[in-house]
Amino acid sequence: MLNNVKVVLVGTSHSGNIGSAARAMKVMGLNNMVLVAPGCEVDGQAIALAAGASDIALNATVVETLEDAVKDCALVVGSSARSRTLEWPMLEPRECGEKCAAEGQQSQVAIVFGRERTGLTNDELQLCHYHVCIPANPEYSSLNLAMAVQTIAYEIRVAFLEQQKQNFVPQAEGEYPRHEELEMFFEHLEKVMIDTQFISADQPNKVMSKLRRLFNRARPEQQELNTLRGVLTAVEKKMGSR
Ligand code: SAH
Repeated sequence: MLNNVKVVLVGTSHSGNIGSAARAMKVMGLNNMVLVAPGCEVDGQAIALAAGASDIALNATVVETLEDAVKDCALVVGSSARSRTLEWPMLEPRECGEKCAAEGQQSQVAIVFGRERTGLTNDELQLCHYHVCIPANPEYSSLNLAMAVQTIAYEIRVAFLEQQKQNFVPQAEGEYPRHEELEMFFEHLEKVMIDTQFISADQPNKVMSKLRRLFNRARPEQQELNTLRGVLTAVEKKMGSR
């Protein structure tokens, strides 16, 4: 199950943080690191701070965009010190650990961490199903990146050990679509809304952002998403035949 949990670091600028994050992961049994457009190399500093966990940093997958990092994930959780202007479904670190441990039984899940100085952008946060916030001192709430990774990784481990104790049998839950399938649905939805003139092509963002939030909250299962795609296709067919 822990092999299904990816730790995604977006735009990390200090290589030492990559090393420390690798160490934070390995002590908790996580080994799958993904670097999105890193601003530094996995250099000597990273290796030094990783101590015995340099394999994780050296084997990290490097990709260009967050979308690439999470396209095969059925659950994506963004870690953020601030709730920002977006009102998004929130998880406590403990709930986040439990969800990752449960869903990691059957599919890939990702925990996403932001840049040291600026965190995650609103667009990146909108690619996540949930946000997790470590309830730190409100007057000084921003943890060092690797320490945030440590805190969340610990919660995943605790939940995983709990599962093992209970000899956990995963519930027969509905299957969730992969991130890229959800993105294809959003593209399709946007196209139909533009074609039907529900929104104008030059300003789709506001409505799309609201609808993204709705569908992320609802988390449609694979079957449900297929139905929604079917509805959109039916609308397109009807318009075409007018
Ligand atoms: N100034 C940035 C903080 C970046 S810290 C900001 O305001 O967003 C680097 C990363 O560590 C963050 O993007 C987040 O993923 C994680 N992090 C730091 N403190 C956190 C907290 N209290 N809760 C959740 N994640 C946190």
